[in-house]
Formats: sequence, structure tokens, C-alpha cells
Amino acid sequence: MSEPTLQERAARERALAQLARTVEACRKCEIGYTRTRSVFGEGDPCARLMCVGEGPGETEDATGRPFVGRAGELLTKMLAAIGLERDEVYICNTIKCRASYRDGNKVRNRAPTPQELANCRPYLDEQIAIIRPQVILALGAPAAKSFLGQAFQITRMRGRWFEGPHGSALMATFHPAYVLRQGGTALTETKRLVWGDLKAVRARLDELAAVAEAAAGSAAEPEQRSLF
Ligand code: SF4
Repeated sequence: MSEPTLQERAARERALAQLARTVEACRKCEIGYTRTRSVFGEGDPCARLMCVGEGPGETEDATGRPFVGRAGELLTKMLAAIGLERDEVYICNTIKCRASYRDGNKVRNRAPTPQELANCRPYLDEQIAIIRPQVILALGAPAAKSFLGQAFQITRMRGRWFEGPHGSALMATFHPAYVLRQGGTALTETKRLVWGDLKAVRARLDELAAVAEAAAGSAAEPEQRSLF
């Protein structure tokens, strides 16, 4: 896969901005009215890696940005551990509004309903179609299930490669918030598993880059030969 041209990058930026406006105006679900802000996604429109979580929590809802707060900080560290800056990847969720309920004076998170997920799915599909990432990393079971079906079991099936949308390679790992909830030996073990998954993602990206480089080299070869 060759580097996108500046025009291609600008076209993707425009397409994403247009889609973000559509999401911001969307009220297909009740939570479209109760959210503070929609959380569309952010990052490189030409990212080779896309990270997809379940949905916005309180901090994301307040800021309009995905993966902020403690889980977001951990995701940033996880990416840095495999040599990726946060703005080199694209980060978003399967659902763009915070699913919540009132509990007295408090607003608490809840899992999105199947209908809410279905209503919102076209937006994620379109983001993937615009960005066309080589690798998608689903963070947590709900995100993984949204790609691979309800039978997906994160503890048994994380760390494996699956075929993702638009020719991408798809893997699931534990959500950073899940990692943060662990303690003691469970934390050590969870971190070890996530680190293994991240290393596999890095290796896959490197492998794909090497293939692209080789293809670009062989395409350039006839021209070079003609110089001699
Ligand atoms: S969750 Fe998605 S489909 Fe539902 S209102 Fe929000 S943006 Fe629209």
C-alpha cells in the first residue's frame, strides 16, 4: 500500500469532517438527546491502525474526544510501547453517544442496547471505509463482538487474527479500562497478555510495510534498469 497523496489525505479529512457533522446532528436514539457531545473519533485519516472501543464514558461525553481519562492515558502508553504516537493512529468507538441512565442525581454509564448499536453502526462502517486501516484493534469484548458476532469470547479469542472490514486484519485485546480494574497477579497476567497482543499488532504492521516497500521497489526497478 503506497503512502496516500496530499490530495488523498485532504479528501479523507473532508469526508470525516462531513461525517462528524452528520453524527453531531444525529438523534436516531434517545441517547442522542441525553449526551453532552457526540464522540466521533480522532486521529490520522490515513492511519494504518485503527483502535475501536465500545462507547463514550463520562469524560469522553464531556470533552467530545474518545479515550480520554485514565483508560485513554493507558491506551496512549500502550501505543507508545509499540512505537506509535496517539495521533498516528485513528481512535473511535462502536457507538458515538454516551449510553447512560439517571440514578438519583447521578448519571451512570450503561451498555448500549442492540438497537442503539445497530443505529450507530453505519457511522463506524463509513469511518473504516474512508480511513481503510490495515489493522483494526478492537478494545474489549463489546467492540470485538460488534465485528465478530456475539459468540466472540475475549478471554479465549483475543490475540488472534481475523478478517476485518475492507481487507483489514482484525484483532481484539482487553480494553484499557478492564486492565485498570485488575490488581495483583491478575493485573500482571492481563498486562502480559495485552503486551503480547500489541507486539503482534506491531509485527503485522511492520510485515505489511515491508511488503509495500518491496512492491514499490519492484515497480521502480524497470525504470532504474532503463537508466543503465
Ligand atoms: S448513538 Fe449513534 S445513531 Fe444513536 S443518536 Fe448517537 S450518533 Fe445517532
